[in-house]
Amino acid sequence: MSNRRGLLLVVSAPSGGGKSTLIARLLKQIDGISFSISYTTRKPRPGEMHGREYFFISEEDFHLMRKREEFLEWAQVYGNYYATHRNTVETILARGEDVLLDIDVQGARQVRRLMPDAVLVFILPPSFDILASRLRQRALDAEETIRQRLKAASEEVKAYAEFDYCIINDDLERAVQELVSVTMAERIRPRRLRNTVDAILSGFRSCE
Ligand code: ADP
Ligand code: 5GP
Repeated sequence: MSNRRGLLLVVSAPSGGGKSTLIARLLKQIDGISFSISYTTRKPRPGEMHGREYFFISEEDFHLMRKREEFLEWAQVYGNYYATHRNTVETILARGEDVLLDIDVQGARQVRRLMPDAVLVFILPPSFDILASRLRQRALDAEETIRQRLKAASEEVKAYAEFDYCIINDDLERAVQELVSVTMAERIRPRRLRNTVDAILSGFRSCE
């Protein structure tokens, strides 16, 4: 992968759509890809750790970092702020490794504008009722929060056509395979292989 700039893979879905589950499986299955840990003003859920799921920061620090333009993108989602750290992403891409972002639709739109070469994947739950039951079974959020997130989901799903790929998360194994396939296929686009291919081509001699 040397001399290659990494691939930026953006995964979006309504809350409970299955982003975290699919991303965890993707990271286990393939090498050369890192997850960009976002910054948020949301309070940690039980079991979440600063620097693992998120960097949990105060609103004051969030706005300071935003003013210093430390974020590649940021958005207010379900009443809290979330952002992607620009330098973290740039450093990984410059090393030739791929980066995975788990961000909302507003963030995905900003990334598309700033980095048109990014690959955007939308995860669609198989139905509204299944999404609701998965959010409730996950049991991480209060009922009021779940209702708020379900209400937002009806708007969020309309954005699916703006994405490069749409994975319907019904059967988990198939959905994981589709996400792995997207990543592997995007890695072998000729424009991303240019340096490797140039080195191979330079070894070819004319037969004239
Ligand atoms: P998100 O990160 O998008 O908010 P999660 O990955 O936390 O969503 O998934 C929400 C819940 O649904 C979790 O409890 C997860 O185990 C479950 N889940 C995700 N995908 C599937 C699937 N294909 N089939 C059944 N349950 C799933
Ligand atoms: P949660 O609070 O459930 O972890 O995440 C809520 C929403 O915020 C999800 O849709 C998630 O994708 C989104 N999100 C997480 N990190 C970021 C980020 O850095 N930027 C943006 N725009 N959204 C994020």
